[in-house]
Amino acid sequence: MSVLSSVIDNQRMQNIRNEFGRLGDKCYLDNAGTALYPQILLTKVNEDLSSNVYLNPHSDKYTRDCIEQIRCTVLNHFNTDQSKYSVIFTSGSTQALKLVVETFEFNSKDDENSHGSYIYLRDNHTSVIGLRELAEQKNADIIHISHDDFLNSLKTCKKGKLRCTETNMSKSNTLLAYPAQSNFNGYKYPLDCVEKIKNGCLNSYLKTQLCEVNCNWYILLDAASFVATSKLDLSSTQPDFVCLSFYKIFGFPTGLGALLVKNTSQNVLLKKYFGGGTVDIVLSSEDFHIKRQSLHERFEDGTLPFLSIITLKHCYNVLANLIPKVINNDIMDTLSHHTYNLAKDLYKQFSDLRHPNGTKAVILYMDSDFSDIKKQGGIVTFNLIREDGTYIGYAEFQHMADLFNISLRTGCFCNSGSCQRHLIVTNKEMKNMHKAGHKCGDEVDIVNGRPTGAVRVSFGYHNTFNDVDKLVAMVTKCFVRQNYQKPERYMLKYKNDVVEIPKTKEISFKEEILALLNEKKILNNTSETINTGSKATLAEIAIFPIKSCGAFKINSGWKIGSKGFEYDREWMIVKDNGVCLTQKQNTQMCMIQPVIDLNTRRLTLNFKGSTISIPLDMSPNNKYQERSTTPFCQSKVCTDIVKGYDCGDDVADWISNALGISYLRLIRQASDDSRMKKNKNSEEKNMLSLSNQAQFLLINKATVRWLKNKIRDTTFTDDLESLTDRFRGNLVVNTSYELIEREWQTVIIGKQQFKVDGPCSRCQMVCIDQSTGEKTVEPLRTISEEFAGKMRFGIYLSYLGPVNGCKDLTLYTNSDVTPYLNDDNISR
Ligand SMILES: *Cc1c(COP(=O)(O)O)cnc(C)c1O
Repeated sequence: MSVLSSVIDNQRMQNIRNEFGRLGDKCYLDNAGTALYPQILLTKVNEDLSSNVYLNPHSDKYTRDCIEQIRCTVLNHFNTDQSKYSVIFTSGSTQALKLVVETFEFNSKDDENSHGSYIYLRDNHTSVIGLRELAEQKNADIIHISHDDFLNSLKTCKKGKLRCTETNMSKSNTLLAYPAQSNFNGYKYPLDCVEKIKNGCLNSYLKTQLCEVNCNWYILLDAASFVATSKLDLSSTQPDFVCLSFYKIFGFPTGLGALLVKNTSQNVLLKKYFGGGTVDIVLSSEDFHIKRQSLHERFEDGTLPFLSIITLKHCYNVLANLIPKVINNDIMDTLSHHTYNLAKDLYKQFSDLRHPNGTKAVILYMDSDFSDIKKQGGIVTFNLIREDGTYIGYAEFQHMADLFNISLRTGCFCNSGSCQRHLIVTNKEMKNMHKAGHKCGDEVDIVNGRPTGAVRVSFGYHNTFNDVDKLVAMVTKCFVRQNYQKPERYMLKYKNDVVEIPKTKEISFKEEILALLNEKKILNNTSETINTGSKATLAEIAIFPIKSCGAFKINSGWKIGSKGFEYDREWMIVKDNGVCLTQKQNTQMCMIQPVIDLNTRRLTLNFKGSTISIPLDMSPNNKYQERSTTPFCQSKVCTDIVKGYDCGDDVADWISNALGISYLRLIRQASDDSRMKKNKNSEEKNMLSLSNQAQFLLINKATVRWLKNKIRDTTFTDDLESLTDRFRGNLVVNTSYELIEREWQTVIIGKQQFKVDGPCSRCQMVCIDQSTGEKTVEPLRTISEEFAGKMRFGIYLSYLGPVNGCKDLTLYTNSDVTPYLNDDNISR
């Protein structure tokens, strides 16, 4: 038995894990994105809502009382009460933050000449940075402070009361916003400095910046990340305003957050707008209204999300029941130690991880070395570097993580200040990256050899050391090429709560890895025939009638329609929520083998010996009927909404059975649905079927052969054919040279002309063996290595039309392939 947590004993940890059985083998490491809701919470909420009657709190006193009760629970959780703080429910942290700045009185009535100021730490969440726009509207001075300046100012600052007597000080108000914990890397900023700051601790910094110094400081603490896994004790520190989102603590409900306002500071918030429920009296025909007395009544416009608030009661109860009070007799302190120790363990393993040549494999972007839990939460942020010192982009890492079913966050996580500081990117470089096409959230992960973002791993109470090991094993296996050694661990001793776990060297997850990689015996290398002639030919035509399902390979010729090959990706499988199913979610889909018979005009599907067939055509009468009787469906494919017709119950049931997922439907793309290829530059618009980006994908077999020889992983045993199949090309061409297709501009195949739309950026689909549905790490790892982190393989084509007055729109296998290079029209 292995140690699951150094704080929570195995029995309790197992109980916790049972609440998240729905994760299956998914390793969830994005707790800072959202916590996970335990199963029991849903049961409790369901029981409560189905046995009680909750009504609009404006009309119903009982519901109102329940909500008041929950306000107390919220405050109690932060070790304070209604005599000191008020709770304003909001839609989340972001709205809470906005509410403060929208209503904050920067200038004071006592001093007409000064505007007041808004100061923010540069390493804040984007939602806090954006507040400067609101503050600016209110004519406040906008000042930002760096991580180092902030910490140094606090360190060097003397205790003592600020006297607002200096002549150079204005009577206006300064609002300082900083995070209790960085959402970038989990660094915990000091919380005990609130008094110091209010006493003028940062005044000297303002003077060095030649800014006006105001005497009244107010602190807006962004606690959104911090409170998710730590105890915020408002009895020991009293920021004026605290914002949070409940889903980050409990996973549920979403759309609910709170602004906590220190009662003695509430007068600095002046609200203009009044909404339903916020006034004692209002005259609709005269400019007269009187706002309600209590702060939250004035600030909560409209009807509260009362059912969401009701569920909070269960959120607190369930958490208290799941997590033992091992540390300081407190669940949040226990949770905090649990997640901190997991992160520390990962930090340690990553710090020690070396390439065979001794260079570091992981660059960590931390502001603490995990020596003090007061300064660090359960988050680790990093990038990987190869043995030769080049970076592995976060998008590439993300693909690998997806393949291993590990959820984590990549990019800059809405914190460009921290991102810039750690990745050492200047403002100018940021702008240049943007000019070069990089936007927040895209896949441009490396620009000029430098990373544009990072990988963030964050732990919650559901995580165990096994999750840490899964991640490190993946990194080791895919990027470091070493055998992973699971570290030995012990239950830590916390005062009286000692639980000893016998040590063990058993490595249980090795089986998991082996299962995932599906280690096969190495087959005898069968010699492949290599086309030595310089002529290129079309070796294979394949269509994929149902999106993400198996290929239908065509022997002789196939007609090109307005959207690509006829019947190519004309059907799709959707789930009961209307969302299109792909191989990414269900690798078995490729085992559904379609056959189109143009004589009988039927599409037959095969899955492990079982078959079903549906007609290719809807007869004109039928079509009318189908339109009126079968539901007209819409589904999202990539970013487009696609319209289609349902193919009926029989085939739907057959597919559900085959894939083992209930309520699947087979949808045929409506013939009048014209998906246009999105192309900013070109005027001409090509229609698309359900394929992801373009009409045709062309794969050069010589490139596949080249790739096959590059793959060093001996456990990867694909032959040339099955490796080719993984790329799911419509057109497989035989040429004499690898990679030449990348230079093609247009290409004539037989009598048909095509335009090259660009390289295809491969997703992790290529790691699915198309004949068995099993996942492997290769060939993605080698592709990304060979192409410096860019996952590109094959080229997209769109159809231009027949050449030489040819009337036949059919493309035949074995046709000659004549490519034309970049603009010079020299055929090669
Ligand atoms: C998540 C987060 C926010 C934003 O919270 P929302 O729920 O998206 O409004 C703000 N600040 C920090 C530090 C966060 O982690």
